[in-house]
Amino acid sequence: MSKVVKIGNTYIGGKNPVAIQTMCDIKTSKINDVIKEIEEVYELGCDIIRVAVKDEEDAVAIREIKKYSPIPVVADIHFDYRLALKSIDSGVDKIRINPGNIGGEDKVAAVAKALKESGVAVRVGSNTGSVEKQFLEKYGKNEISLAESALKNVGILEKYGVENIVISAKASDVSLMVKTYRYLAKKTDYPLHIGVTEAGSMNMGVVKNSIGIGSLLLDGIGDTIRVSLTAPVAEEVLAAKRILRSVGADKNYVEIISCPTCGRTAYDMKGLLEYVEKAVSGIKKPLKIAVMGCVVNGPGEAKDCDLGIAGGDGKCVIFKKGEVFLTAAESDARQLFLNEIEKLTGNE
Ligand code: SF4
Repeated sequence: MSKVVKIGNTYIGGKNPVAIQTMCDIKTSKINDVIKEIEEVYELGCDIIRVAVKDEEDAVAIREIKKYSPIPVVADIHFDYRLALKSIDSGVDKIRINPGNIGGEDKVAAVAKALKESGVAVRVGSNTGSVEKQFLEKYGKNEISLAESALKNVGILEKYGVENIVISAKASDVSLMVKTYRYLAKKTDYPLHIGVTEAGSMNMGVVKNSIGIGSLLLDGIGDTIRVSLTAPVAEEVLAAKRILRSVGADKNYVEIISCPTCGRTAYDMKGLLEYVEKAVSGIKKPLKIAVMGCVVNGPGEAKDCDLGIAGGDGKCVIFKKGEVFLTAAESDARQLFLNEIEKLTGNE
């Protein structure tokens, strides 16, 4: 099991739930817009937010953002160690740096000292573009060189007594990413930040992330996830939630199962499904609800569901654990089904 690391008011690692992260896509110094975006993703279930710190203005803005953010804020820093120091000074909860690109031992030492004194957490690691030459020469371009590069960066910080470390080693190749994190999980007990990097747009990106992150979570690997997508930030959080639910890491919601429909479907089942999805989207209760395409097979195929509906020829049946207990005209069925959902969820 991984160690527990404190990031602001949140803990990751150990037995803590897998935390969802995303990254703001607005310049950090545009404080009001950034806060609005943080609030939006927080409402959707985001646990930790990262912001890019490109210049001093961004680093200073963190102080104001921190006052309003309901979730921990991570500063993403490249090359300039002074921005790391400034962000820590602004009260950031975690920084993401690469000790190899912030300009020499004395600068790494200065950042490490500030991390140690402040207790601020740090994420270090590697990606396929930053694998150290020594490991490439020794192991070639593979999961070992990628993971060992990340571990080397961890070693640099450990040398200065930094312990609040989270590791990442991302790749856009799903198979390489999965193998790298499996390797890391055997070699270290620091929490792992997992994700497929540069995964693309919604279509392929969601699939790549689901396979990569999902495979690792099913192995019990991964303490925090970021679904990287070229899409609105909110989509990353929604996709992350769906991945966590699909692997059973989040059970506190209403799961909807529905059949693919076939020639036996004789009512507006897709319309009903959309209606039910909206109705239960915010409910936090572990329930399984079925929306099925036909009365003949629907109740039987959804036998393990707490509640279900199936329709055909102008009427619908509502059932519990596969047993029909109510038959109604299709025009009345939506409201009756909703009433039954409310009885189960206590939302009456
Ligand atoms: S439940 Fe009925 S409509 Fe849906 S796929 Fe099965 S047989 Fe077809």
